[in-house]
Amino acid sequence: MSMNETKSIAEMDRSSVLHPFTQLKEFASGKMGDPTIVTGGKGIRIHDARGHSYIDGFAGLYCVNIGYGRTEVAEAIARQAYKLAYYHTYAAHTTEELAILSDRLVRMAPGKPSKVFYGLSGSDANETQAKLVWYYNNLRGLPKKKKIISRECGYHGCSVISGSMTGMSFYHDHMDLPFPGILHTGTPHHYWGAEPGETEEAFSRRRADELEKLILREGPETVGAFIAEPVLGTGGITPPPAGYWREIQAVLRRYDVLLIADEVICGFGRTGADFGSTLYGMDPDLVTVAKGLTSGYVPLSAAIVGERVYDVMEEAADRVGAFSHGYTYSGHPIAAAAANAVLDIVEKEKLSERARSIGLHFQRRLKERFAQLEIVGEVRGVGLLGAVEFVADRQTKRRFDPQLKIGARVSKAARDRGLIARAMPHGDILGFAPPLVVSESEIDEIVDLAYRATKQVMDELA
Ligand code: PLP
Repeated sequence: MSMNETKSIAEMDRSSVLHPFTQLKEFASGKMGDPTIVTGGKGIRIHDARGHSYIDGFAGLYCVNIGYGRTEVAEAIARQAYKLAYYHTYAAHTTEELAILSDRLVRMAPGKPSKVFYGLSGSDANETQAKLVWYYNNLRGLPKKKKIISRECGYHGCSVISGSMTGMSFYHDHMDLPFPGILHTGTPHHYWGAEPGETEEAFSRRRADELEKLILREGPETVGAFIAEPVLGTGGITPPPAGYWREIQAVLRRYDVLLIADEVICGFGRTGADFGSTLYGMDPDLVTVAKGLTSGYVPLSAAIVGERVYDVMEEAADRVGAFSHGYTYSGHPIAAAAANAVLDIVEKEKLSERARSIGLHFQRRLKERFAQLEIVGEVRGVGLLGAVEFVADRQTKRRFDPQLKIGARVSKAARDRGLIARAMPHGDILGFAPPLVVSESEIDEIVDLAYRATKQVMDELA
């Protein structure tokens, strides 16, 4: 691409793309500089139109688990496009790749999976989950049992209901969210939430007690489901405290509340297990997957419906008629072909096991390098998910003045060194989620670049 072409792409973009999560005025005025035009990728690296190369320490948006440039997937997409680019799945139509994928997902998903409903994004799949909860309880003759509880700092998407489930106010502000009937309970983050001296187990019990009180306050007959990520993602990359899922599930069972496991980040190996639910002993009724399902090569998500919910739906069908929910692109054959090719790679290269073993190295290296730094409050993570949280005072856990934008500055300093590590949107947190094909030496490089970026910002603060 010539310099002129590069310029005109940037100009076209600036004048016509409404970018998500971008300060519109700073972008429009050029204060943020030109957009980064990403032109290619291979393995864990991407490069841009200016010829810069970066290690993608965040796998896009925690999705490119198999790495960039996998020709097996490109070929599977092309094969399906040549053969049959599209057919729908309404009224009992299907395609070969879709049936194969669904059989596979039902065999591998956590809980007691029965059927798979397809969407295009994590957000729309969670929207479907909400409708399934409402449908299920209507069919059971429990029309009041509709409220859905999620957690503060949980992230479940940006559409109307999934955006309401998301538990961070800046995703709601000026957008008339959250919708009534979507409630939030305390975040399972021991570092910030625990009382002095409170153990993880005791903290988990307290969070479960709070959930129980919320259910009792609202009336158990009005609460349909609890939705959560096995490991809290965008809200901080926070693995659950010890005992959390045991305690929470005991409460849900007591009040006949469904569990929706949002596996959009954790699913397909990210935590070092096939699913976060498996790792933490969760037994979900509904499971949401996206991202890793196709490694981001094409859009595809799924709401996996467990027996408990599906059996009621089938049982009621003579009475209520067809299941009236679906999208033109539900179960798109090209996406299904891509997902099968991606899952073949995940299985063949044992990427879950790899994420576990390389993940141990990663977590160790992160702790070695960061835990003692003066501005680091907590280093945490599991598998190939990691976070370093910065604080102004380690003793008192005083946060930095948000105006200092410490997380964003460290992320920028890392980027200047050729590493993409994400400044998480909530707090001064540097997040890591490299492709699962990352090697040990690449992990060392990632941690080293992030460390040097952090030191640079520390020097600036001194
Ligand atoms: N759920 C979780 C746990 C996520 O991390 C995300 C996206 O980051 C979503 C849902 C929403 O997915 P999408 O951005 O594909 O709508």
